[in-house]
Amino acid sequence: MSRIIAITNQKGGVGKTTTAINLAASLASLERKVLLIDLDPQGNATMGSGLDKAELLYSTCDVMLDQVALADTIISGLPCAYALAPTNADLTAAEVELTTLTDRECRLRNAIQSIRDQYDYILIDTPPSLNMLTLNALVAAEAVIVPMQCEYFALEGLSALMTTIEGVRSTLNPSLKIDGLLRTMFDGRNNLANDVSAQLDEHFGRLVYRAYIPRNVRLAEAPSYGLPVMHYDKGSRGARAYLALAQEVLAQEFHRPERTPPTALEQDLPAEPSLEETIEPDTSPKIADDGVLVFQLKQNEK
Ligand code: ATP
Ligand code: MG
Repeated sequence: MSRIIAITNQKGGVGKTTTAINLAASLASLERKVLLIDLDPQGNATMGSGLDKAELLYSTCDVMLDQVALADTIISGLPCAYALAPTNADLTAAEVELTTLTDRECRLRNAIQSIRDQYDYILIDTPPSLNMLTLNALVAAEAVIVPMQCEYFALEGLSALMTTIEGVRSTLNPSLKIDGLLRTMFDGRNNLANDVSAQLDEHFGRLVYRAYIPRNVRLAEAPSYGLPVMHYDKGSRGARAYLALAQEVLAQEFHRPERTPPTALEQDLPAEPSLEETIEPDTSPKIADDGVLVFQLKQNEK
């Protein structure tokens, strides 16, 4: 049975796509069958996997609109050694259209069912927003990996993401969990990075991956060749770091350590709902003006 992992952080440019591509390639090099689903209209994972997003016959846009089966979009035999469900800017239109359709939060989950058994890992690259596409990824996934840069504002964004994940868990996908927070573009010479990293360890404990991804120019160069870094420069620090991450992800498969629940950054996170409050099972999330998904809490009638 495959494991479905969404790579998510609504903050832009934190290394989601770099993580999706290079974790997929590293897991494939460890002899796992991997599918990478590109669910970001930017199509960066598509291009970075060596496929021209301008020349797609079908894309995940068609899948989300129920026009094509996911299996028909999947491209295999790429040098990256994983299978890819590609996308392009058409997906932006799909995101708008989705809001009017039934079952809109479950489109991806339903689409994955028929191909699920063919892969050991299905990774989903998501856009830098907590929108309907990201919600589809969170509903389809069992686990979330949150790439984050160790900088001041990183912690601020984390509370909105945690709230969204908690909302999805309480309503549409009870089995969703955070597999780990991943430190990306890490520069150990930077005092702030070290401070934030220490704070992450303190507040989130074993929820933080031991592997961290250093800032490495090879990681930034590789997508322009349409290759994961391990196929571009196998000995680079970036390649070795993503291989270490893949090994940690595999280790979770065999031995799921009791991960310390987040102690929450008290000043950031909203208070726990009181006992009088529940999230109604059929409550659909709404998208607020700032693009953040909001789950409506309703008072229990007593
Ligand atoms: P978006 O939110 O726009 O989808 P993202 O979170 O997917 O962005 P990436 O596209 O993976 O982020 O990375 C942003 C930029 O930083 C890219 O140019 C990428 O090549 C570069 N980059 C990512 N990780 C590293 C790293 N560890 N070292 C150096 N450059 C990196
Ligand atoms: Mg991206």
